[in-house]
Amino acid sequence: MKSRTKVVVIGGGIAGCSTLYHLTQEGWTDVVLVERDELTSGTTWHSAAQVTNFGMNQTMVGLKSHSIALYKKLRDDPDYPVGYHHGDGGIRLANTEAQMQGYRHFASMARGMGVTYEVIDAQECARRHPLISTDNLLGGLWDGEDGDIDPAQLCQALAFHARKAGAEVYRNTPVTGLTRHKDDTWTVHTEHGDIDCDCVVNAGGYRVNEIGAMMGVQHPVASMEHQYFITEDIPAIAEAGHRMPLLRCPISDYYSRQEKGGLLVGFYEQDCKTWGMDGISPAFSNDLCPDDLDRVMDVLEGAFERMPALTDVGIKRVVNGPITYTIDGAPLVGPIPGKRNAFCIIGLRAGLGEGGGHGWLLAQQIVHGEAQYDTWCIDPRRFTGHATVELTARKAIEDYQNEFRFHFPHEHRPAGRNAKTTPLTPVLAAEGAEFTVVNGWERVDYIKPSPDFHPTLSFDFDEAFDVVAAEIANVQANVGLAEVNGFNRIEITGADRHAFLDRMVCGTVTKRDGRVGLGYLLNHHGCVKAEATFANLPASDRGPARVWYGSAAASEYHDMDWLAAHVKDGEDVQLRSLTNDQTILVLAGPKARDVLAKCARGDWSAAAFPWLSVRECCIGFAPATVMGVSFSGELAYEIHVPNASLYAAYLALKEAGADHGLKLFGARAVEAMRMEMGFLHWKADLITEFDPFETGLSRFVKLDKGDFVGKAALIARQKNGPTAQLVTLQVEASHAPAHPGASVMRDGKVVGTVTSGEYGHRVGMNLAYAFVSPQTSGDETGLSIDMCGEMVGAQIVTQPLYDPDFIRMRS
Ligand SMILES: Cc1cc2nc3c(=O)[nH]c(=O)nc-3n(C[C@H](O)[C@H](O)[C@H](O)COP(=O)(O)OP(=O)(O)OC[C@H]3O[C@@H](n4cnc5c(N)ncnc54)[C@H](O)[C@@H]3O)c2cc1C
Repeated sequence: MKSRTKVVVIGGGIAGCSTLYHLTQEGWTDVVLVERDELTSGTTWHSAAQVTNFGMNQTMVGLKSHSIALYKKLRDDPDYPVGYHHGDGGIRLANTEAQMQGYRHFASMARGMGVTYEVIDAQECARRHPLISTDNLLGGLWDGEDGDIDPAQLCQALAFHARKAGAEVYRNTPVTGLTRHKDDTWTVHTEHGDIDCDCVVNAGGYRVNEIGAMMGVQHPVASMEHQYFITEDIPAIAEAGHRMPLLRCPISDYYSRQEKGGLLVGFYEQDCKTWGMDGISPAFSNDLCPDDLDRVMDVLEGAFERMPALTDVGIKRVVNGPITYTIDGAPLVGPIPGKRNAFCIIGLRAGLGEGGGHGWLLAQQIVHGEAQYDTWCIDPRRFTGHATVELTARKAIEDYQNEFRFHFPHEHRPAGRNAKTTPLTPVLAAEGAEFTVVNGWERVDYIKPSPDFHPTLSFDFDEAFDVVAAEIANVQANVGLAEVNGFNRIEITGADRHAFLDRMVCGTVTKRDGRVGLGYLLNHHGCVKAEATFANLPASDRGPARVWYGSAAASEYHDMDWLAAHVKDGEDVQLRSLTNDQTILVLAGPKARDVLAKCARGDWSAAAFPWLSVRECCIGFAPATVMGVSFSGELAYEIHVPNASLYAAYLALKEAGADHGLKLFGARAVEAMRMEMGFLHWKADLITEFDPFETGLSRFVKLDKGDFVGKAALIARQKNGPTAQLVTLQVEASHAPAHPGASVMRDGKVVGTVTSGEYGHRVGMNLAYAFVSPQTSGDETGLSIDMCGEMVGAQIVTQPLYDPDFIRMRS
């Protein structure tokens, strides 16, 4: 066994084997995989191993397409052929128009990745899958690439090719411990000796948290028991003359595929069970949980009704095995938060279909620092302090119970709610708040007009449209108050803080005390990594001179890791998170200054406290830090208050605002208003696939300043010209917004992808942001958007649409 290598991958299921293989493909061949038993001793060996191309965002579709292309290559490889039924096709059923509408949206989204889904009616479903009845069926989504693969052969083939390229695989070698060294290298301790390495990967399947514990981490991954059975031969299959397509049923929660002459049918029962929450026996290897078909009776009946042929055949075999889940159903593939040179590829619940792609994107991250797609939807840092295994188990149960029921826009399911709240959450709930969830935080979406107000789940504008319009009208005419909790806040102190930030940010960083700036951080490829405000606070009784770095709530772990990784040895820079200590109250509207002046001592005139100022003060008697910044385009103040004083500050603002028409507003109003100003959202419009020029941020780039992270790469990218351009589109539809992922079309061809869409109430336009091809960005007309299957005209418009000279924000 080697005593030193570049990367040690722990676990020899599909996740580990795919990672090892792709590391060698990306050029790193001095890499090792260690497996406690034989390869595929975990979940992989008994997987139903269906491989589908369906995803709900373009990254998922892209990585699944990679799996399919790779598996076809391996199938056709004469050295080590893999059994792979590619192209049996598959149907996701639907019995509601809303589900069909969702499928049409996903078809539009996948089109941008070169993948074709067909939305077909019930008769066509039955024509393609002769075993199904059309009772209670509207239609479905057809994915022609679907199939299934032999999981053991797949892993063996990946290991074979990795070995051929130079990698080594140590079987029967349990990892017993991990040591992180001062220089951020690792030692992996195994029963057969130690291996020093630069980088370690947890691919431990359901044993993820045994390996996590070795590095002091608990990953938000929980396992569920999951069952399928295999039937005896079904004559109608032989009679059909072709293989049966896969079936996924959100009506009655089961799936099926052909297995030899019969069917394999798997179930997602309501009476489902977590597994291994109190520890896993070391002896559980190549093992299964006891069969329990009684538990699946409710969904079994649905499968029998859809496929009556099932009632005439016997069951040959039942499989019940552990399958891993995360909080949002997507896996955790990428850097482990708070650690360096430690990665994971865990929480895979569809690991056979996705594993090829996940291993590919992980290997790219390890070798190049970033993958070719923005990987935020699978990034382990998207969950933060609330992400306990107990919360994960609750979300896993909910997710399992809804396996094939996608989330609609604005849908937040009930399990695990109130994971992160502030003292104001119950107060705002009593005011009628409907909450959305942002990084676990309950954030006000809008104030409901009545307690029983429940908008319809839909891809169209819902009944909250007019409610949001009224909130915006009040912000525009008077003043609104909103709580923005969980906003990521890092306090940066130390004599070198400005030099440090200057190196991290691609534009000008204001250093003047009392001033606030906005800037963008690039990755080493010159693309957009993060967006932040920087507020310079002088030394005071509240602390030494400091910069408050503020960014999106979801970026809490992501940004902290990125900043911490770039502090140089000997540099006088300290980073401290205030995210969970401070909450923002936003006061926005032409009367915001009057309200502030009424409850906070001092001169708040535009001359004394202009736009982009910051000052410490008290709101009533509550300590606060006020910034003159606006995401709405109105005169606005962000009032940062320690959570202990939040209620007091809220009461003081409410009282001061009573004579000025102050009313609450929520995140949906903010979303609409920011789109009228051309303001962008991190991980919607700001993604690692594009540089700041492509993202329309040239005014925030200063190439003539000193070096900054990503500068050389950005200059090199510029030489090749832009690959896309972010534009704003006015959408010619009044019934629905354009949803992220929707394809922008010209002459029947995809020329771009929508990143955000909302109705701009102040300008009376339905708006969308989209990355379009550079050639298209010059065309103002002739475009359309595939909105749930309907081609809707769209025109490029120039931002800002509302108050283009920023007169209201600066007033
Ligand atoms: C019944 C069932 C049906 C399924 N059907 C499908 C399907 O149709 N399509 C699909 O895509 N997915 C399906 N899945 C899910 C899929 O099988 C999993 O997502 C996938 O197999 C997970 O692979 P993995 O590599 O992450 O984990 P595993 O296969 O569990 O591999 C982890 C490996 O890590 C090793 N290990 C653990 N601890 C250590 C240690 N300390 N030292 C060294 N090695 C260690 C284990 O021995 C194991 O070999 C199904 C799952 C189940 C249970």
